[in-house]
Amino acid sequence: MVFSSTNTVKPLDSLIRECYAKAVASGALLFTKSEITLYREREVDFELRYVPSLAKKPDTKPKEKQRDKSFVNPFLPYDERLHVTSLGSLPTSKPTHQLLLNKYCVVPNHLILVTTDFQQQGDPLTKADFAAVLETVEDISHPQVVFYNSGEESGASQPHKHLQLLPMPESLSILPTVALWLQQQQQATRCLPFAHFGVRLDDTVQLTPDHLLNAYQSAMNAMLKEYSAGTSYNMLLTTSSLLLFPRRLGSWEGVSVNSLGFAGLLLCKTSDQLSLVKKSGVLEILTKVGYAIY
Ligand code: AMP
Repeated sequence: MVFSSTNTVKPLDSLIRECYAKAVASGALLFTKSEITLYREREVDFELRYVPSLAKKPDTKPKEKQRDKSFVNPFLPYDERLHVTSLGSLPTSKPTHQLLLNKYCVVPNHLILVTTDFQQQGDPLTKADFAAVLETVEDISHPQVVFYNSGEESGASQPHKHLQLLPMPESLSILPTVALWLQQQQQATRCLPFAHFGVRLDDTVQLTPDHLLNAYQSAMNAMLKEYSAGTSYNMLLTTSSLLLFPRRLGSWEGVSVNSLGFAGLLLCKTSDQLSLVKKSGVLEILTKVGYAIY
């Protein structure tokens, strides 16, 4: 099982730890402190993270950035001090992906998996992308939440194709929206009020890039029967499932939402946003930025 925790130290564990410590010490990586509140809804814990120091940081979308003449792609070239390792190399070809530390992290060891050559953020994920994901998670002992923000309304900010890996929060045993989706599958009751397309992964077998690509394509095909090509979406990949959430809006009342929001981990930049989320409920906010299904 590749996404689950083991007690064995894996090859990337120490590499990431060392690279992180050096990047912080050199000033290449800027960690931002936050306060976590657990918020219970439908008998499941959601994680609200209050990060007031991000309030001044503007949210820009990938295409807005590309239109700006002064924009410089941070992933090509990437900052060597944030580089963890290269992935997907065959003896005859260059690596397909580069594993980087997220320069502006709120959670330590937040990883970015970028394509070596430029590809557009929002391009469909490929077998090579999933191979690089597996190569990474198989070599880390802590379980990871893998996600992809696709399209202008998905919460993405960078135009160069990148997946992301976040260590599974210690305070949660399962991602809240995934817990509700699994409950829905078992009980055939509606738990998630917004559009979603999921595929259950068999956690008893060794997953391959083809397994993940097939799961992704089957969820994409289901989504494209109801939503037009080019619809923004978030993808979440965990041990149990691959889930897609089509997106109508990137934010609601100032609360920006990306795939982590759809995982049930929401970032609030002001105390007003935090109060709004608690008053409205996380699922209601996700329904505003996704598509309501009832
Ligand atoms: P997204 O906003 O989903 O497109 O993800 C892009 C991520 O890249 C953000 O979380 C940023 O913090 C991160 N980032 C921005 N600049 C750099 C950089 N130079 N090196 C590594 N990560 C970066």
